Amino acid sequence: MVGMAFIHPVLQIVHAQIILYCYMNNLPYDITRTIGKGIPGISTSTTHEEARAIDFSVRGWTDKQRDNFVKEFNDRFKSIAAISAKSKVPVLAVDHKGTGWHIHIQIRRDIPTMSNEELNKLLRRVKWLN
Ligand SMILES: [Zn+2]
Repeated sequence: MVGMAFIHPVLQIVHAQIILYCYMNNLPYDITRTIGKGIPGISTSTTHEEARAIDFSVRGWTDKQRDNFVKEFNDRFKSIAAISAKSKVPVLAVDHKGTGWHIHIQIRRDIPTMSNEELNKLLRRVKWLN
C-alpha cells in the first residue's frame, strides 16, 4: 500500500476537509484504502489505481450521518468530482458496500489548474467552519 504522499494534491486537500468534518461532528474516521489495484468483481473504476480515490470506514456512523456527509461533500465539491460509472454525473462521495460499508471519495482525472484563490474559495464554502 502506498501512502498519502502519492495521493493527488487536490484529493489531499479534500481529505483534510473530511478529517475536519469528522472532528466537528464527532464521527470516527478510519482510512481503509488509498492507492491500489482494482478488486476483481468489486471495483467499478480505476480511481484508486490512479491515486484519485480514498475509502474510509463508516462503522459507527448512522444512515443519517452517512447521508448528510455524502450530500454535503457532493454539493461542495461537484466541480472536482469524478464522473460516476453508474449515474454518469459528477459524484465525489459514494456510500457503498464493496468489501465492507465505506464511503469512496473520488476526484476527476482532468482537474483544471486551480489558483490558490480558487482553492481557498472551494474550501471556504464550509458552514461548520465559519
Ligand atoms: Zn473506493
